[in-house]
Amino acid sequence: MRITRIESIELRLPQITEKTAGTQDTLLVKVHTDEGLVGIGEIDSSPRVSKAIIEAPVSHTIVRGLQEVLIGADPLENEVLWHRMYQATVYMGRRAAVIHTMAGIDLALWDLKGKAFGVPVWKLLGGAFRQKIRAYASILFGATPAATEAIGQRWRKAGFTAVKFGWEPLGESEAKDIALVEGARRGIGDDAWLMVDAGCCYDTRTAMKRERQFRPYNLSWLEEPLHQDNLEGYSKLSQASETPIAAGEGEATRGEFLRLMDEGGVDIVQIDPARVGITETMKIASLARDRHRKVVNHSYKTYISIAASLHFLAALSDAWLLEYCVEDSPLLNSLTNEKFPLDAEGMVAVPQTPGLGVSINEETVERYRQR
Ligand code: MG
Repeated sequence: MRITRIESIELRLPQITEKTAGTQDTLLVKVHTDEGLVGIGEIDSSPRVSKAIIEAPVSHTIVRGLQEVLIGADPLENEVLWHRMYQATVYMGRRAAVIHTMAGIDLALWDLKGKAFGVPVWKLLGGAFRQKIRAYASILFGATPAATEAIGQRWRKAGFTAVKFGWEPLGESEAKDIALVEGARRGIGDDAWLMVDAGCCYDTRTAMKRERQFRPYNLSWLEEPLHQDNLEGYSKLSQASETPIAAGEGEATRGEFLRLMDEGGVDIVQIDPARVGITETMKIASLARDRHRKVVNHSYKTYISIAASLHFLAALSDAWLLEYCVEDSPLLNSLTNEKFPLDAEGMVAVPQTPGLGVSINEETVERYRQR
């Protein structure tokens, strides 16, 4: 089997609003082969930038568009192809957008491999330690503490046993921060797990103070309280904190995750398969396990990312929680025919069909496609 084409389709809602929610656009990737099998992935980055990274013509040996690197290659050799893509872009890549783009292609290669062998991706990763996983509703804070409380009630009623609130307006003032987290806890009740995603809004001293102030609300973790470049701050905070500190969505490579763990000292490593790829995710998860850190997914895009997350989390011995984005986005809610619903215990089943276990609703693609 040979790769014949890397198709990338930019999908975008007609109205993009100024909020930190990645569900308003995506870059859908289809890896086509000469045997008619098609692998599906998505990229969590700037869709138009990633499209250019795929389609760019060769400039020289270490500045190449990714499609040109992959045409004619065997799609089942994902490890070799990862290395080739990295080397072919080393002058312009190594971080962020180029790695995100490689990640989306890597998801499609795993999907293809599963389809080629007729097994779900988790089986190719070594098998599943579990066939369902607890999901947490992942959503932004409300504009006020009362609105945040109502959001918490909504997702508890929907059956979630864990909820994470994130980003703005956290960071506006000390009093409002505490009131927002108090509202979140009141909304979900004392028996559910509560996580807070600070959206990188604090300096080191403020983060250390807020961590102490949030202790009465019993957070399961405090996520990205600091700028993603502030490793020294992460080190100080994680040493002083009683609350587990989570981070990782800003990182894309093994080296960056190593620094986050070894220099930043974070307790919980969040890996986004649509920015990291499954091939590298499994290596990072192994490095995390060696360091006795926990691994969860980061996922705030569509059900393609959620499916990819379910596969890698199923294949990790100690995974316990799935980030499940509950944004009211028509793109998230209609791009795939599969929705991975919550069961009565607040768990989501791991896909059983070959590959990632997602199929695309082509009507949605036509509705939101950018030309
Ligand atoms: Mg986050």
